[in-house]
Amino acid sequence: MITERYDEVKRRIAAACERVGRDPNEVTLVAVSKTKPEEDIMDLYRYGVRDFGENYIQELRTKHDDLPKDIRWHMIGHLQRNKVKYIADYVEMIHAVDTPELVATIEKEGTKHNRIIPVLIEVNVAGEESKFGVKPEDCEAFASTFSQYSHVSLQGLMTSAPFVENPEDNRAVFRELKQLMVDINHKNIDNVNMRVLSMGMTNDFEVAVEEGSTMVRVGTAIFGARNYNTSTQ
Ligand SMILES: *Cc1c(COP(=O)(O)O)cnc(C)c1O
Repeated sequence: MITERYDEVKRRIAAACERVGRDPNEVTLVAVSKTKPEEDIMDLYRYGVRDFGENYIQELRTKHDDLPKDIRWHMIGHLQRNKVKYIADYVEMIHAVDTPELVATIEKEGTKHNRIIPVLIEVNVAGEESKFGVKPEDCEAFASTFSQYSHVSLQGLMTSAPFVENPEDNRAVFRELKQLMVDINHKNIDNVNMRVLSMGMTNDFEVAVEEGSTMVRVGTAIFGARNYNTSTQ
């Protein structure tokens, strides 16, 4: 049952919090529902879950159209500038912002819809070639560019750690992202006061929580393995 697996993930988050003296209420569990059918989302919705994560714009649009309007949709995947307009009026948070041009587009769309769109900077902490995201050393300068805007709000940092057999191997990655956020906050940049750390997935969310994650993005542990050949797209 999906709701039981969801509870099990919640329980593991709470246990990780307990190990390091954190309040479990500081950690939002985003249920990553990409490729999964709307019935699965509704099972969790009826159970009280509201935070869902999606990677693909077309799939997100369809699900947003079909499903209850109080769902908080997190766009966690790489986002192209020309797709921002499809989600700008309702998206709860855009997790993977990594270029000034994308920020400018989000600002424009936020202005159009008269809302402030919360975003996170995606940081490629481990320096993986195959991944999007800004380099840690470029993050402060990028964060400074947000000062000029009023319809896009920088709330924090996000990373997707490498796939590793042993989640302990990602501890240094999570620690570095947290430290980066603390360091940039100390610079007192106008309009920049970050509080969200979106890090931790099925394989490593407990280590991420121990290292300060405030948002874990968990798919497989809740919905089961994904089969991209029969995806809902
Ligand atoms: C798919 C995805 C997740 C969830 O991954 P699982 O390993 O299934 O928990 C989290 N974050 C991003 C950016 C993803 O693309």
